[in-house]
Amino acid sequence: FKRIEELDGEVHAFLELTKDAAFEQAAKIDEALANGTFDEMGPLAGVPVAFKDNMNYEGTHTTCSSLMLENYVSPYTATCVAKTIEAGGIPLGKLNMDEFAFGSSTETSAFGPTKNPWDLERVPGGSSGGSAASVAAGLACVTLGSDTGGSIRQPAAFCGIVGVKPTYGMVSRYGVVAFGSSLDQVGPFARSVRDAAAAMDAICGHDPMDCTSQYVKADFRAACEQGVEGMRIGVVPGFMNAPGLTDEVKARVSEATEALREAGAEIVEVELPHADAAISAYYVLGPCEAFSNLARFDSVRYGYCAEGHKDLGSQYEASRAAGFGMEAKRRIMLGSYLLSSGVYEKYYYPAQQVRTLITQDYQAAYEKCDVILAPTSPRTAFKFGEIGDPVEMHLSDIFTVSINIAGNGGMSVPCGLGSDTGLPVGVQLIAPQFKDENMFRAAAALEA
Ligand code: GLN
Repeated sequence: FKRIEELDGEVHAFLELTKDAAFEQAAKIDEALANGTFDEMGPLAGVPVAFKDNMNYEGTHTTCSSLMLENYVSPYTATCVAKTIEAGGIPLGKLNMDEFAFGSSTETSAFGPTKNPWDLERVPGGSSGGSAASVAAGLACVTLGSDTGGSIRQPAAFCGIVGVKPTYGMVSRYGVVAFGSSLDQVGPFARSVRDAAAAMDAICGHDPMDCTSQYVKADFRAACEQGVEGMRIGVVPGFMNAPGLTDEVKARVSEATEALREAGAEIVEVELPHADAAISAYYVLGPCEAFSNLARFDSVRYGYCAEGHKDLGSQYEASRAAGFGMEAKRRIMLGSYLLSSGVYEKYYYPAQQVRTLITQDYQAAYEKCDVILAPTSPRTAFKFGEIGDPVEMHLSDIFTVSINIAGNGGMSVPCGLGSDTGLPVGVQLIAPQFKDENMFRAAAALEA
């Protein structure tokens, strides 16, 4: 907490601190240490943790960095938060994000942006920018974020840390404010692959409160020790020649490929023929689901209420106009248009067909390899305001969105600093559905 006080004025990763809960948990850890039961505690015993502000944690504000939810206090706790604390994590607080997780820079937060600890003039990435920056600045050891199209992996890459988006269904979404329900997945940030594995061991598993969560048996910490001897790593030539991929990122990602080859893996080329359509499909499906999910913030059931209106229609209108920021409004308008009759058939329906094609591409690719290696982001962290055009911002998600569309696991691991910018570069490892241990094997080998 002292370090947060000293540094977070500048970084602005935290929106709220949970000191009472932290000291209560710390006292339990001390007690366990005193009576020799510490080793029976979970994989995060004594680890300072924090949560993205779209995760309900009873008694805290869960604002999603939106004025709409500025005064909303959680009446219950999300499963991922509960599991992190049950595993022994010491909860420090709630973390800044892009409003409702719409964005790639944390610039859309209604409470001001988070800064990248590597260079305070640059963005930490997004939408889980607070989750990434707090770990990079040493303000927390493990944090949770959510990833709908790259929001864990891209900020991890920008901040030089590890970020994991598990296979859809591995981690419960119960109590996490929904953006795109078929795309959202919760995952950890950490400074090392093994720390991230411990966090995954803590949060993974079936939850009766989330009907899309699955029964999965995995031991991520054990996977880290398996090595990559005999593993087949797929590289996608189309990705490495993608427009916008900077030379410095390409160079570091190629070096990571070579490092895995030297560690005993076999490198094979695989094709993802429909990958080019992923961004278009994502920016149709994502806004459609967001539009539906955000309908509940109507000033009656949830959210800010502009008072003094004669009828319900004008109350809705005034409340939503004041409560939502620009990017949220853009997504709501886009989703509403795309789902209207006559338009639905032209965009939403084909986007779902593209989704199937992309999923099939991955399935075919995994007949030839155990994990796919790709860049996480085409470039390193950009400066505040540098990308003003929303379409250009959306295009920077080129390497991450197809993984959410197909529902696979993906993680970003640091692979050195860019030779031009001197900023961290991330390499992405992409696992077949429910084989997330594969990506941990390769990731741990890269770090070794
Ligand atoms: N940047 C992407 C978007 O703006 C992804 C966001 C996310 O994963 N939550 O939609």
